[in-house]
Amino acid sequence: MSGASGRHEPIPEEPVSGASGRHEGAGAVPLKHERISATLAGETAAGCFTRALGALLGLAIGDALGMPTQLLSRDQIVEAHGPLISGFEPAPPGHPIAAGMTAGQVTDDTEQAVILAEVLIAGGGAIDPRELAARLVTWEADMRARGSLDLLGPSTRRALTELLAGGDVETTGRSGDTNGAAMRITPVGIATVPDTAAIVAAVEAASRVTHNTSIALAGASAVAAAVSSGVAGLGYDAAVEQALAAATSGAERGRWVAGADVASRIRWAIGLVAGLADADACDLVQRLVGTSLATQESVPAAFALWSLHPRDPWLTCRLGASVGGDCDTIAAMAGAMSGALAGPAGFPAEVIARLGAANPGLDLPGLAVGLLALRGAAR
Ligand SMILES: [Mg+2]
Repeated sequence: MSGASGRHEPIPEEPVSGASGRHEGAGAVPLKHERISATLAGETAAGCFTRALGALLGLAIGDALGMPTQLLSRDQIVEAHGPLISGFEPAPPGHPIAAGMTAGQVTDDTEQAVILAEVLIAGGGAIDPRELAARLVTWEADMRARGSLDLLGPSTRRALTELLAGGDVETTGRSGDTNGAAMRITPVGIATVPDTAAIVAAVEAASRVTHNTSIALAGASAVAAAVSSGVAGLGYDAAVEQALAAATSGAERGRWVAGADVASRIRWAIGLVAGLADADACDLVQRLVGTSLATQESVPAAFALWSLHPRDPWLTCRLGASVGGDCDTIAAMAGAMSGALAGPAGFPAEVIARLGAANPGLDLPGLAVGLLALRGAAR
């Protein structure tokens, strides 16, 4: 979809954010509780819906953009697509997990987020871990039946295998430290107000069965807090501060596992790419931050790429899909966070239309309404 990149202006910062307005990097604006409360009091249903839909669109569009480039190296992507992928592409023949998929189709990232959203809505805001596990097992069986090789990730598969063998939901996620929790957490961010304790508790409830470790909960809390802040109408700086606070708190939950601190690496990765041209930033993110399934690589990578153009989710998604490695997930996380700030206006209309045409069963507006009803109830 090379024509879709055309002229597309990023969305200007909204004064309602309460933050300073322009991108100043993490830590530039100390967040005050009073300001959060004042902003939440000003939440409007229409504004929240717009931004929640933007988050879900960013998740799905980033995922679909990265579908054909996932698992490739940055060099391979530059050779095939140039330094910045221009739009939806079909999977190349012989792709190890996406072969046969058509341009604009979403992958496990979006499909598992939809499952989590549906379980969350059905439970009135509570996650039944056995129901979530059952839905994920059914989803994978359906994927296999469709001939897909894009199946459960390592942490989720290990946990569900243990659960099916009679394991306890309190222990099945004790070694799950990869990025599956963060990749599907966007619905929790939409359904929860940007309060650190509330975010981390909701993330833990949604992730315990598969990813009950300090690193996975830190990464998922960061993404959820950023999305939640965007939906609330906060600005970029405030959203990043909320994400760092949630990552720090999330790292104190679950079973401790060895690995670098997610909050510290998010802050470092944002600083690393500050002032760089987009292509140079992508190169550096792949080489130094890392783009693997490891939460402490892919989540900071998503934050670093988002920081380059905080209110341009279409460009952010394309950067994510161009970085290589687990880049459908990186683009999905970065797209969700950026989309929550900008709303659907952050994407070209033809891209949204093409996403819908390629995924006819995907009801993102319906999910946004259901999730926001939970957010309203939580207030
Ligand atoms: Mg995927």
